[in-house]
Amino acid sequence: LQAPASMEAFWMPFTANRQFKARPRLLASAQGMYYRDVEGRQILDGAAGLWCCNAGHARERIVGAIQQQAATLDFAPTFQMGSPLPFVLAERLAEIAPPGLQHVFFTNSGSEAVDSAMKIALAYHRARGEGQRTKFIGREKAYHGVGFGGMSIGGLPNNRKWFGPLLAGVDHLRHTLDLQRNAFTPGLPKHGVELAEDLERLIALHDASTIAAVFVEPISGSAGVVLPPEGYLQRLREICDRHGILLVFDEVITGFGRVGKAFAAQRFGVTPDLMTTAKGLTNGSVPMGAVFVADAVHETFMHGPPGAIEFFHGYTYSGHPLACAAALATLDTYAEEQLFERAIELAGHWERAIQSLKGAPNVIDLRNFGLIGAIELAPREGAPGARGYEVFERAFHEGDLLVRVTGDTIALSPPLIIEPAQIERIVNVLGETIRKVE
Ligand code: PMP
Repeated sequence: LQAPASMEAFWMPFTANRQFKARPRLLASAQGMYYRDVEGRQILDGAAGLWCCNAGHARERIVGAIQQQAATLDFAPTFQMGSPLPFVLAERLAEIAPPGLQHVFFTNSGSEAVDSAMKIALAYHRARGEGQRTKFIGREKAYHGVGFGGMSIGGLPNNRKWFGPLLAGVDHLRHTLDLQRNAFTPGLPKHGVELAEDLERLIALHDASTIAAVFVEPISGSAGVVLPPEGYLQRLREICDRHGILLVFDEVITGFGRVGKAFAAQRFGVTPDLMTTAKGLTNGSVPMGAVFVADAVHETFMHGPPGAIEFFHGYTYSGHPLACAAALATLDTYAEEQLFERAIELAGHWERAIQSLKGAPNVIDLRNFGLIGAIELAPREGAPGARGYEVFERAFHEGDLLVRVTGDTIALSPPLIIEPAQIERIVNVLGETIRKVE
């Protein structure tokens, strides 16, 4: 399959990629740990596509389930009827979800999961007679997708600046990144829990009784893989509890095994009230997202005062049969191959590999946790992002390696089926590339 010769003649179908005037690199097929591009080159996937394919690509069981489902029941309308599949999937997800988060609402993407979580939070407070709770708190540098809600609570300046005014009543916590730079210390940062107190500052500023929910990524991905300082998430939980504010974890990236448990909530021992997921839910195969909902929140909807459930929300494709079939086969694959446990087993090896880049030119920080990693490079003077982008580009073209880049940080999230030799290869290619890039 080749793209039309004059690709520029078409509005870029998936991303406004003007920033670097680069044509997208086109991929033709994928299997296991590898992509093949349209020129036939085999490319090692150090990014699980886009933090999605935790079980590797084109897994037979998932492919078979999608094919079979397409031939059996291709679509079921969502309102007033449906198929049994979303119920079966919700029950399976409850088995791996943190205790107390046993209810699921299905969407088609992470962005939709975030916007749905915002609406669920608002409806929950209204149902409890606290309709004045309409504000949201996000974090600087956070990414919560591209819907108007997620964009408003997100904190990446470039993602927001052309689209204002955004949602009113949103404020942002200070980020924890600066504390961690130059640490070169594997594991979670030991200092920084006091940054959670920033939430008290915002609460005092806005009045606790007007705030609906606080959104955080347990590990922020697009900010450059920023790890939470020890105790940070616990502290946010305590503060939210004290003020009756819902805590939402955006686990679109961290969900489904990347940190060695099904969800980061379990790894960090903090249970949010709502949890947004997508990506690894179907191993990237069919678009799907999900909001996990706490029992107490769900209870308010089901048995709250009259009017509590009279709000409308739902997508034509919520719980789509193909997505459900793909997700069920994905969960089977994760369980059968014990891939979440594998992320823990390989984490030591992964850490040594990443940390071996200490001392490479321009490397100012290295971060790793589970099977997630980041190599942060010093920005070129006057051209932030250019050095990171060049490493990304050259790793792809000269090293046959796919990674992600965000600013000057190379972000790594390989499929959890990765072999130790492939971990070595990722780090060797990146080490060589970083040494070549001025
Ligand atoms: N939240 C987080 C933390 C994400 O990383 C992403 C996507 N990278 C999203 C939400 C949005 O997901 P989607 O692109 O599927 O809408």
